[in-house]
Amino acid sequence: MTEMAVGVSFRPGELEVRPDGSGNLLGSRCGSCGAHFFPVREVCSGCLSDDMETVGFSTRGMLYTYSVVRQSTPAFEVPYALGYVDFPEGVRIMGQISGCEIDEIGIGMPMVLSLEPFGEDEEGNPLTGYRFSPAEGIAQDPRNE
Ligand SMILES: [Zn+2]
Repeated sequence: MTEMAVGVSFRPGELEVRPDGSGNLLGSRCGSCGAHFFPVREVCSGCLSDDMETVGFSTRGMLYTYSVVRQSTPAFEVPYALGYVDFPEGVRIMGQISGCEIDEIGIGMPMVLSLEPFGEDEEGNPLTGYRFSPAEGIAQDPRNE
């Protein structure tokens, strides 16, 4: 594994980053009906319970669909791919796809959460954001075994 400066989460309520560089997306689990949501929310949209607990999601999911962005603002290098990844908890989360060529992306492929540098905050501290990468050849998340 390559060394990477571990920054703080670019959105602390959505992405938890640990000192060892690992992390999880954060959402809510309803204590009443068990539904999961991303991002964190106060009330369950399924059963209207406010018994919501913040949980970290699995780091592996399945690519539901994707789109290739070929025009953007000058801040973003094109083309890049945006995808929706389905997680075992039943949430579908959108993010940029990294770690492969665009023509290697396929609907249904296993994906893994990838923490990547995401610029700096106002004080110049490195920030960490997330993308999704093909999970082929990447070790299984031990919590899912
Ligand atoms: Zn509920």
